[in-house]
Amino acid sequence: MKIYNTLSRRKEEFVPLEPGKVKMYVCGPTVYNLIHIGNARPMIVFDTVRRYMEHKGYAVNYVSNFTDVDDKIIKKAIEEGVEASVISERYIAECKKDMEAMNVRPATTHPLATQEICGMLDMIGTLIEKGYAYTAADGTVYFRTRKFKEYGKLSHKNLDDLQGGNRSLLVSGEDQKEDALDFVLWKPKKDGEPYWESPWCNGRPGWHIECSVMSKKYLGDEIDIHAGGEDLIFPHHENEIAQSEAANGTQFAKYWMHNAFLNIDNKKMSKSAGNFFTVRDIAQKYDLQVLRFFMLSAHYRSPLNFSAELMESAKNGLERIVTCADKLNAYLTNENITKEKSNKEIQLLIDASKYNERYDEAMDDDFNTADAISVIFELVKFINTNTDENSSKEFVEALLKQLTTLSDICGLILTRKEEILDKDIEEMIAARQAARKEKNFKLADEIRDSLLQKGIILEDTREGVKWKKA
Ligand code: AMP
Ligand code: ZN
Repeated sequence: MKIYNTLSRRKEEFVPLEPGKVKMYVCGPTVYNLIHIGNARPMIVFDTVRRYMEHKGYAVNYVSNFTDVDDKIIKKAIEEGVEASVISERYIAECKKDMEAMNVRPATTHPLATQEICGMLDMIGTLIEKGYAYTAADGTVYFRTRKFKEYGKLSHKNLDDLQGGNRSLLVSGEDQKEDALDFVLWKPKKDGEPYWESPWCNGRPGWHIECSVMSKKYLGDEIDIHAGGEDLIFPHHENEIAQSEAANGTQFAKYWMHNAFLNIDNKKMSKSAGNFFTVRDIAQKYDLQVLRFFMLSAHYRSPLNFSAELMESAKNGLERIVTCADKLNAYLTNENITKEKSNKEIQLLIDASKYNERYDEAMDDDFNTADAISVIFELVKFINTNTDENSSKEFVEALLKQLTTLSDICGLILTRKEEILDKDIEEMIAARQAARKEKNFKLADEIRDSLLQKGIILEDTREGVKWKKA
């Protein structure tokens, strides 16, 4: 299996640190809003990497954090007049719902920055002891970037270019730095902000230190794969390497994987630019399996442009696979189906096994999901050509299993959501209204979510509750 390693800028053979095991860390979202479909790209891509590694027999320990203390979370908390934790807890819960709907499996561990402050204080202490960090007069702790001789090895940046081009790194309030390249490990609190006690000042951590610490705690000093979107290469991942390798004295991650951006009108999709769709927006119109299929129809290192046409073609593509599975299931319900496979069918199954090999070849080549999906389509064509009402049970079952397995590695579910009757929807809406009247908002939300799971979207309007199918 080959992985493109950002560190070497080459595809390298994957050799795990420990045979049969993979330790993988994926930087997760900052939780101050519903996630947008750009954030969904690394979730879907690296969930697929995990699924494929498991298919190959590896035990994968998959860690992905939620950044739950940050300027944007605090700003939103102040706007709403609530604690920062109210904001982060709300959006973690919403993010988990989106993940489930996209069939992104929960990580082995989802650590939260606010729960790992002790580890951060420890690592910052070690960095100070080793001379890699220093405290300014106001209590801010900075990393002494130039002391880490390999700084720039991931982003392939030269320190002197950085120094020359980044005078702006000296932002206001950071004029006590020894060097413009130094970055914050710990900063003093401001009024109204959450803070923790520390030997240097009451304050909160910088962003980069959390991932170094959580990765060490849950996976150890050395890990196999560290991943995230390509915007994280610099400075976030470069700084993580500097912190971890300076503190632990060993190589931090062997393979660095980065997904390219999801764009809109060929511009980066981002919250700050305002040109984004949330995953929830897409769920209004499509089953999120379609979004997953769309993301995987491109290689993860190629930029992907979001458009209505591509979503429609993803919908049609997925429908072709699901229809094929439906057809096989229908054959299996035929009471007169013969049980044992014929000699011809035995030969056909041998022929069909080449699709498994070709699928694995595509995935072994740096997780080429675009090619892997083409192989699924070829298998669909093969099935459509070689099966009918007279096929045997064993034959149909074997092909259905093959189709399901290859789809499942990409996280694509082939069973249709159960159809819900209008009468049941009306009953659930009435139960939700009753719950709201009794101020049982928890139950009311549960009912709304369970309808959403069935593809029914509720809208509270002046004329009452309206519903539509996603
Ligand atoms: P953030 O919440 O901004 O820290 O982002 C969480 C993850 O989403 C990171 O791995 C980002 O690199 C990734 N990400 C953010 N925007 C996009 C985008 N437009 N396309 C692909 N990945 C993105
Ligand atoms: Zn990170």
